[in-house]
Amino acid sequence: MPAEEFHEWLRREGRIVIVGASLAGLRAAETLRAEGFAGSLTMIGDEPYEPYDRPPLSKAVLLGKASPDHTELPRRREIDATWRLGVAATGLDMAAKRVRVADGDEVPYDRLLIATGVRARPWPKEDEAQLDGVFVLRTRDDAVRLQRRMKAPPRRVFVIGAGFTGSEIASACRDQGIEVTVAERADAPLVGALGGVIGTVAAELQRDNGVDLRTGVMVTGLEGDSTGRVRAAHLSDGSTVETDVVVVSLGATRNTDWLAGSGLGAGPRGIACDAGCRAFDFRGIVTDDIYVAGDVARSPHPLFGYQFLSLEHWGNAVAQAEVAAHNMISAGADRRPHLWVPAFWSSQFGVNIKSVGVPSLGDEIMITQGSLAERRFVGVYGYQGRVIAAVSFDNTRWLEFYQRMIETGAPFPVDFPTVDRRPEGRKPVPADFPDPSLPTHGPTVTLSGYSPADRHLVFTPARH
Ligand SMILES: Cc1cc2nc3c(=O)[nH]c(=O)nc-3n(C[C@H](O)[C@H](O)[C@H](O)COP(=O)(O)OP(=O)(O)OC[C@H]3O[C@@H](n4cnc5c(N)ncnc54)[C@H](O)[C@@H]3O)c2cc1C
Repeated sequence: MPAEEFHEWLRREGRIVIVGASLAGLRAAETLRAEGFAGSLTMIGDEPYEPYDRPPLSKAVLLGKASPDHTELPRRREIDATWRLGVAATGLDMAAKRVRVADGDEVPYDRLLIATGVRARPWPKEDEAQLDGVFVLRTRDDAVRLQRRMKAPPRRVFVIGAGFTGSEIASACRDQGIEVTVAERADAPLVGALGGVIGTVAAELQRDNGVDLRTGVMVTGLEGDSTGRVRAAHLSDGSTVETDVVVVSLGATRNTDWLAGSGLGAGPRGIACDAGCRAFDFRGIVTDDIYVAGDVARSPHPLFGYQFLSLEHWGNAVAQAEVAAHNMISAGADRRPHLWVPAFWSSQFGVNIKSVGVPSLGDEIMITQGSLAERRFVGVYGYQGRVIAAVSFDNTRWLEFYQRMIETGAPFPVDFPTVDRRPEGRKPVPADFPDPSLPTHGPTVTLSGYSPADRHLVFTPARH
């Protein structure tokens, strides 16, 4: 059948299956219907709930200001789908175009979207991870369990890992007057994502808010009492912290296990796809019927030297899902690339943190507005003479401006005057990222497709 005719048929009566019924899955389904897809749509999700929003789980929900049961994602439109919730996809037969599900059923598709996201990396020692009082935070069920314990309230919460989620949990604890210790292997919180210069500010922020922050240490073990409840954490510096709640915030693992042996280019780093969201098979050849979106995807970006970007960003999940859905039902020339500039936000200790671009690629940073001392500033990251990212603490309004600079490959250091630039912002300083081959809590943006230890890439900015 010629491509045009095939796509007309597909739009009219094709079968589309979406695995992963969360943010990316839902937004893709809505886009498919909005663009006129009239065939059958099946949503397969291993959680028993309709799509809900995760960012509030470590913010409003932990603060007791929102209930985990009321975090459903707002719907843009009706999607008229068959929902198969509480059942995991367990396998994929690419040749027969079928998804196997946990109840033994097989669901056929003409187009498949994989949006299975990530899951929290558990505490690696299984017997210790089983102790009562040891939590992770990724799902609504995790939030219900943790929120219940926070209400008790605990004597002390012990957070392992000072990435964004760990830091937000610590912030929620202090907001409620709960004692909290945070242990981080790197020298400061948020360093994997934002580097040491900003990490120093984040460390002061935590300590000023009463967090017992321990950096440059590893947690060597968790100890339970005779009833199986966690009672202490042991650290590599020989110290012990007594605690009754431990939250493990060690980053995420991509949900690709169910694709083992399928022939798809899926692994621990996610599922590789082209800029049009089409998945690669294990030979690196692009498929035409399998698409990927959201946290599980890794896709090339021209602004970042065509390296593969893995993003754990809410906005990326939405934008990529929209592009994937559009491309699934469009013929070649009508397809669009996913060229979203990464953007992330977090709120902690009363500070609104936002970033655009890929800070972890930057080797230098320049404070272009405000000052680090006031914790109200914009920091711009440079890489090989180009603006590559920006971060703001309580200074959001400038980020759009810097986003344009990233998009156009503007020169770094930036040389325009700004009203509130202070002496510290007149020249760039090393951004001070830890060696990327050493595991820390992990950034929420990862570049891959090259050796993580190799930063000697030629940056080729996009020309418009
Ligand atoms: C606590 C928390 C706070 C966050 N805060 C922020 C923030 O402040 N800013 C920001 O930009 N981002 C934030 N994020 C990240 C943001 O929520 C994610 O980027 C977003 O949820 C990604 O959506 P997704 O649909 O790709 O994946 P997910 O939301 O992970 O959804 C994937 C779904 O697929 C399901 N699934 C997995 N395997 C299977 C299978 N085999 N079969 C069927 N279903 C399966 C999963 O259970 C899940 O329901 C936060 C995340 C968390 C957990």
